[in-house]
Amino acid sequence: MLGSMMKRDLLISDLLVHAGKYHCDTRIVSRQTDGSITTTSWGEVSVDARRLASALERLGCAMGDRIATLAWNNARHLGIWFAVSGSGRVCHTLNPRLFPEQLIFIINDAGDRALFFDRTFMPLILAIRDRLRTVEHFIAMGPRDDEVTAAVPDALFFDELVGDGDAGYVWPTFAEDTPSSLCYTSGTTGSPKGVLFHHRSTMLHTFVIAQRDMVGMSARDIVLPVVPMFHANAWGVPYIAAMCGASLIMPGSGLDGDSLVDLIDDYGVTLALGVPTIWQMLLASAKARGSTLPSLERNVIGGAAAPPSMIEEFRDSFDCETLHGWGMTEISPVATLNQVKAGHGALLPDEMTLLRSGQGRPAFGVDMRLVDDDGNVLPHDGETQGALQVRGHWVVETYFGMASTALTDDGWFDTGDVATVDPDGYMVIRDRTKDIIKSGGEWISSVELEGIAMGHPGIAMAAVIGAAHTKWDERPVVVAVRAEGAEVTEAAVLAEFEGRIAKWQIPDAVIFTDEIPLSGTGKMLKNRLRERFGNALAGRGA
Ligand code: ADP
Repeated sequence: MLGSMMKRDLLISDLLVHAGKYHCDTRIVSRQTDGSITTTSWGEVSVDARRLASALERLGCAMGDRIATLAWNNARHLGIWFAVSGSGRVCHTLNPRLFPEQLIFIINDAGDRALFFDRTFMPLILAIRDRLRTVEHFIAMGPRDDEVTAAVPDALFFDELVGDGDAGYVWPTFAEDTPSSLCYTSGTTGSPKGVLFHHRSTMLHTFVIAQRDMVGMSARDIVLPVVPMFHANAWGVPYIAAMCGASLIMPGSGLDGDSLVDLIDDYGVTLALGVPTIWQMLLASAKARGSTLPSLERNVIGGAAAPPSMIEEFRDSFDCETLHGWGMTEISPVATLNQVKAGHGALLPDEMTLLRSGQGRPAFGVDMRLVDDDGNVLPHDGETQGALQVRGHWVVETYFGMASTALTDDGWFDTGDVATVDPDGYMVIRDRTKDIIKSGGEWISSVELEGIAMGHPGIAMAAVIGAAHTKWDERPVVVAVRAEGAEVTEAAVLAEFEGRIAKWQIPDAVIFTDEIPLSGTGKMLKNRLRERFGNALAGRGA
């Protein structure tokens, strides 16, 4: 043998061992459902997680068993994540915003053996528990509570399990391709599908997404993951924070603008991450209360397209650099992030906004390609649109419990998004395949039109859908919610598009409504809008 290097399996427990050892005192702050604040540390979380892992052992949970959580972002949830995955079990995060029927389907499909729940979700547990076929243990996340016991007599309590647990528990070692966590996609089209992450895929994602040209987290950061832990693993933030030794500020259920502004200002948050609808509320609140969010250096926006006006507003009014990213549950989830390259320093502000409005460059470890309807690979010239396909170290291969592959014949995953990629690798999502508007044989990007409509100060939120049209098949229609107190008219919104896009792409109508329905992860439900407004142009344009 010429020589060798140590070979250690990449295991999630190592993240917590590292954070507990080298960032012992770094704070983890949690906002509880009643608004009170509790503070712990990486050191304490690492002890609690070991105690909890030993308790799971005592409950008879085996390697590979799925253990579900129905919880907001808080320190107990963090401890469960590490305890479950670190001990070789599978942490299955449930989205409490799903309909009870969907939750029942998902829990039974996953075969969850135990279910941890925030106290606030007790009514939901009561509503579904009789139809859960596999759950043996219901564990309330908190101290013993008589009300919980009265409703769920056999309930266990997180604090008791931790209190009675063994702090001397030693994390087991096993193969790095052991499953670690499970997350279901939203299932807007068809039944939800489970994506089963592995220790190896999660660790590689963590190493890479922590990098400077990705999220760029460090031990100096105070991080607010607004994105919930049940939404594609909170984009990997808890793992990255443990690796970097960053402080975490966990917002609990308080995802309204005022609560978030308070957390940012009270705790000096430097980096926050969330979907665009969250930032919309946060910006409105910060302006109303006169906060310039002085500590906030960077924010990551993903999950849906960030309107260019939002990126400019963070830059110009809050001195905050917005990193626009793209990913999906099937990609662990981060694939691209919009960081500039060395040559971009000379860009003018408008050019910079244009560059940074796109979804950015791929992380090392995820490759992308564009293909047409016949499967031909298309050029990365910044103009040619095609179906976006990816492959890499943290991309799904088969969905949970499914025998058939999720990949194309030549091993790529089709994302269901339509995009362009420029020669530098900067990718722009033009649409989801099912949302793109087909007008007279040409494609119109609903995402681009939404970005423009939301740039009007009188608009709080806007979705653009294709409405049926006699002559052109489909024409774009804006469905918009006015900003509070604004009296903006249809003509004023349509004027916003003049000179910004080709004339034939300008929407035919603006429909004002009180509310745009959002999915459980805060995305606009355009299928519902199509059902409601898809015939808005009936009788027009013959
Ligand atoms: P779902 O929305 O189905 O629950 P995901 O959260 O995994 O599942 O969403 C993935 C999808 O979200 C992507 O395929 C893409 O359509 C959309 N998406 C994510 N980030 C962005 C972004 N920055 N801009 C536009 N679309 C995005």
